[in-house]
Amino acid sequence: MPPHTRRAWTRTLGQLALVLVASLLAGLVVGQPWPLLAVAALGVVAWHYWKLRDVLLRLTARQRVEPSGGDGVWNELDRLLYRTQEEMRGRKRRLVEMLRAYSAAAAALPDAVVVIERNNQRVRWFNDAATRLLGLRYPDDVDAGVGERLQPLPVSRWLAAGRHAEPMIDAASPVDPSLRLSLRLIPYSDELWLLVARDVSKMMRLEHMRRDFVANVSHELRTPLTVVHGYLDMLDPDEQPEWAPILQEMRRQSQRMTQLVEDLLTLSRLEAQDGVVDEEVAMDSMLVTLRREAEALSQRRHAISVEDSAGVDLLGSTRELHSAFSNLVGNAVRYTPAGGSIAIAFARSVDGGAELSVRDSGYGIPAAHLPRITERFYRVSTSRSRESGGTGLGLAIVKHILQLHQARLEIDSEVGRGSTFSCRFGPERVHPRDRVAASAPAASIPTSVPGP
Ligand code: ADP
Repeated sequence: MPPHTRRAWTRTLGQLALVLVASLLAGLVVGQPWPLLAVAALGVVAWHYWKLRDVLLRLTARQRVEPSGGDGVWNELDRLLYRTQEEMRGRKRRLVEMLRAYSAAAAALPDAVVVIERNNQRVRWFNDAATRLLGLRYPDDVDAGVGERLQPLPVSRWLAAGRHAEPMIDAASPVDPSLRLSLRLIPYSDELWLLVARDVSKMMRLEHMRRDFVANVSHELRTPLTVVHGYLDMLDPDEQPEWAPILQEMRRQSQRMTQLVEDLLTLSRLEAQDGVVDEEVAMDSMLVTLRREAEALSQRRHAISVEDSAGVDLLGSTRELHSAFSNLVGNAVRYTPAGGSIAIAFARSVDGGAELSVRDSGYGIPAAHLPRITERFYRVSTSRSRESGGTGLGLAIVKHILQLHQARLEIDSEVGRGSTFSCRFGPERVHPRDRVAASAPAASIPTSVPGP
């Protein structure tokens, strides 16, 4: 017990004793000590009862307790209650200030933030940007169902998918279709989810401008390159033998530039595409073509084998898939020294999908380079890539084509032992092969072309 509380307590006890002794003495004087003592004791109890009632009433009515002067227990109780109330008031004030600061910060965010109750998919709270970007209005839309309020955004389907939902999607704003939004669903508790929508229209415009710029430059370079190429072809090295090596180098470089421009145009075209028109891709003839291309590039320097154990076809664009596969086969030939082997295999995968893999026994790729290998112009060895006629765009093209087919590229490589590039397609891309594999016996049976 703190000293001032103890003092108040002793003082009250002293007062009580004083009253009782005084009443006993007065009783003795008048010759009636006990009745007077009883009356005094009752008076003291009544007074304390009255004080207790007063405190209880004030607390029940949530009245502010004012500290009273005096140093009895009731004054001490008032002082203690006043201090507790002041502390609670201060805490509440700080909490309200903090809440105000948080909600002002959330309101000032340029991104739309919506708190959603997961169970009943209702809007619990949203900031000002949600009105501008998503069209939510205060107070009408508090407690409204997100599904119908945010149509045509696929928020309901997204919420239903739970924690396995795609983390981010792009969509047009329901308020202004010219606004592109990047939407993110963040589960921050079991009941509450946060929907964050960011306006990415400007970024998309810049991305479009960049894409258009690259496509336009490539397109503009095509004509002068064709002219240069044409003139170089007209020059006969036999007429000026001393110019022959220079002419040969000029032809090589102009071919490289043409290939670079063609690859840039392909990449721009793929980037501008949202998807592909699905057709049945005849994998037996695809494998025959790939083998022929590998043989032509290899010039009998490698042992080439083709194996088709899948017995199914793919759904997608034959032209694009051929471009992707042939890039991988080209790389395998170019990055495998003479005497090495290249195996092309088409097989079913465990998930019901299918997988085309190109395995080589070539130089391999150091693990540190693998995460960036599909970036444009990223090369492990620039000199080796140039020597072999590479543009540095092949794997970027492969990645884009596979993305358009919701497929993924997996790379397994070991320096000095070789690499395996696998294109994994989901079950939805698999199509039963009901044709008779007539023209392609070589693709359906494992075959090999002997090395040199
Ligand atoms: P490039 O035109 O230079 O071959 P790519 O995008 O096709 O460009 O490949 C990027 C880089 O990845 C290449 O420069 C090469 O270093 C490496 N690479 C690709 N395929 C293979 C492979 N089969 N074996 C070893 N390295 C490879």
